Amino acid sequence: MEKTDILSMEKDTLCGYMKSVGEAPFRGKQIFGWLHMKMVKDFSEMTNLSKSLRQKLDENACIKGLKYIKKYKSSADETIKYLFETEKGYIIESVLMKYSYGYTVCVSTQAGCRMGCSFCASTIGGLESNLTAGEIASQIYEIEKQENIRVSRVVMMGCGEPLDNFSNSVAFINIISDSDGAGISKRKITLSTCGLTDKIYELAELDLPITLAISLHAPNDSIRRSIMPVAKKYSIDEVMKAAKDYSSETGRRITFEYALIDGVNDSVENAEELAARLRGILAHVNLIPVNPVEERGYKKSSENNIRLFSNILTARSVENTVRRRLGTDIDAACGQLRKSFKEH
Ligand code: SAH
Repeated sequence: MEKTDILSMEKDTLCGYMKSVGEAPFRGKQIFGWLHMKMVKDFSEMTNLSKSLRQKLDENACIKGLKYIKKYKSSADETIKYLFETEKGYIIESVLMKYSYGYTVCVSTQAGCRMGCSFCASTIGGLESNLTAGEIASQIYEIEKQENIRVSRVVMMGCGEPLDNFSNSVAFINIISDSDGAGISKRKITLSTCGLTDKIYELAELDLPITLAISLHAPNDSIRRSIMPVAKKYSIDEVMKAAKDYSSETGRRITFEYALIDGVNDSVENAEELAARLRGILAHVNLIPVNPVEERGYKKSSENNIRLFSNILTARSVENTVRRRLGTDIDAACGQLRKSFKEH
């Protein structure tokens, strides 16, 4: 019989599990603290549990974490990229970024991805596996232990589509924000989606005060469909409606991500059309000069076009920033490192 992975359980679920195996529910809270605050990886280290309980846990449950493989430090800035391996042998990647306000980790939610965006390296080999909530959280814990730091912000912007792995992504958010665990405030967690509209409504219903980022990357359906297959299923109008619903339900501003690709979506008309689309939405646009992916042949926009695009949005009262690009010398863009590791 497969053992129960308790690292992926929210605190209440873990307390319920302890009850179901004939133990006092408060043991669940204690174990939760060992796993998510002290970040231990073995029952034998849980020293306030009796030997017999530890043995019972060993027989019935497991802590399905990650194995560290390698890290790559950027020479240009303090970005570090990590490769980990899941128990089933999937390779995943995570990135640590240092900002003036603290450390941010970018986590992967899936090994690979099936969304098929044409500019993204994560999707080239398709979806290999969903990650469990514990495997997503372990990316943060392994990095914190290695670097001896506390991470204060989390962005779900690594490999994979978090809303295509909905329940594990939500469990992950609840686990790492629990004050008996890592205690990372939900307000400091960003979930990025390519726009799975039905799931955005589901997420809004949960009323989690996280930041929602939507990868828009185009001002109209025809450009969006040419670079993002998901746009064939959901029109921009539908995505915008879901975004408005999310922001009125949660009171949170939506972030729109827009990768600027030379000659594809970076013209003056594109900027004006985007500004018109975003009118009346509590929004912030992140302009990201596209990271070139060899296989795709896309080039990033010229500095001039980037500046012009940003200025047009500003003139139309659309808040925006050009994202500082970290770690490009270590293939820090989504899926690039994992891909080059697997090829060598
Ligand atoms: N699947 C989710 C989250 C993962 S990707 C999503 O689509 O939002 C995180 C962000 O990086 C997304 O906005 C994605 O479109 C963007 N991205 C992917 N490849 C990129 C590249 N080569 N250059 C710039 N941004 C890229």
